[in-house]
Amino acid sequence: MKVKNLIVGAGISGATLAYKIATELQEDVLIIDSKDHIGGNCYDYYNTDGICVHQYGTHIFHTNLKNVWDFVSQFTKWYPYMHKVKGFIDGQEVPIPFNLNSIYQVFPQTIAQTLEHKLIEKFGFNVKVPILELRKVGDEDLNFLADYIYEKVFLHYTLKQWGMKPEDLDPAVTGRVPVYISRDDRYFQDVYQGIPLHGYTAMFQKMLDSKLINVQLNTKFSDIRNDVSFERLFYTGPIDEFFDFELGALPYRSLKFDFVTFDTPYFQSNSVINYPNNYDFTRIGEYKYFLNDQSNKTVVSFEYPQSFEIGLNERYYPIVKDENQALYAKYLAKAQALHNVYFLGRLGDYKYYDMDKAINRALELFEKIKK
Ligand SMILES: Cc1cc2nc3c(=O)[nH]c(=O)nc-3n(C[C@H](O)[C@H](O)[C@H](O)COP(=O)(O)OP(=O)(O)OC[C@H]3O[C@@H](n4cnc5c(N)ncnc54)[C@H](O)[C@@H]3O)c2cc1C
Repeated sequence: MKVKNLIVGAGISGATLAYKIATELQEDVLIIDSKDHIGGNCYDYYNTDGICVHQYGTHIFHTNLKNVWDFVSQFTKWYPYMHKVKGFIDGQEVPIPFNLNSIYQVFPQTIAQTLEHKLIEKFGFNVKVPILELRKVGDEDLNFLADYIYEKVFLHYTLKQWGMKPEDLDPAVTGRVPVYISRDDRYFQDVYQGIPLHGYTAMFQKMLDSKLINVQLNTKFSDIRNDVSFERLFYTGPIDEFFDFELGALPYRSLKFDFVTFDTPYFQSNSVINYPNNYDFTRIGEYKYFLNDQSNKTVVSFEYPQSFEIGLNERYYPIVKDENQALYAKYLAKAQALHNVYFLGRLGDYKYYDMDKAINRALELFEKIKK
């Protein structure tokens, strides 16, 4: 088979490129995916109770990039959902990131007032202050707050998420945990936030709806590598796998989602509740909140972090460490030596991207190649 453009991976990165190539260059695209669906990690589906479930964990679209918002808004209308996260801390469900409302929920009022006054006096209002900065003030009340946030919000969650011992935690990362001096309980402050009104998958279907785009599912690159000739290859799969792991495997953290349907209209008080200090899962997501789906039942997922093992589970988060970046840099050098082969996306770039950043990366790459 002969195609002008072969795209490996029908996730948000591959779909963005496919649309741009087909509409602006009027060139044909074959886009393949090893999975039995489009959308990659952003894939969602409606279950028999009419609830839109995100198969790979809760996905909330948020961006400050107007070009990206305008781009995706061609393919969907939005449910104007603004995400909030609660953490189950000392028996209470409190806003995360930890903010002034959280302080008033977990501490007696007199202590909360003292902390609020000191925070505003030292740092002002509506700012996110890393706990490392709190400690620098040398005030015993602010030290107490920094220790509390570190222990109750950050430490155990991070140990579960990354499977590390406390002494292996990078102090630079630890120090960045913020207290938000604000009453704004939203998780993101981005200008544009929402959930595609009919789900992410419907949005991807529109993106790929072109005579010039041929979507082939259940197809691995290795299945067709020798049978397809192409002028350009865009690869959104794992860069180490492309090179048959010849320099070694890039490490990832994985997740296991346990989905449970409950015979009750709502299971919890919020779409996402984190459990830093209880249980082995990190959080529970309840899906009907995202589009306000009406049903007497509800679907939740319990999220268990795991180590990634090839063939056993999925790659989710690249593990950010100097040695892993060094290995990635070697693969990148090999990739750059290839002609008309481009790597992108969270697996191709070995980088965690929020959805908007993944789209933006694909849009920028398109601008480069179209010249
Ligand atoms: C648990 C979790 C929650 C998240 N929540 C959010 C959120 O709330 N908001 C947000 O903005 N972002 C979120 N993200 C990030 C978001 O998932 C990514 O931005 C997005 O998935 C990146 O898309 P992609 O196309 O680069 O990669 P992917 O979605 O992984 O797509 C790559 C595709 O390539 C296919 N593939 C790989 N190798 C091959 C091969 N050899 N042959 C054929 N096909 C192949 C894969 O099957 C996959 O479908 C979250 C991520 C995770 C892990």
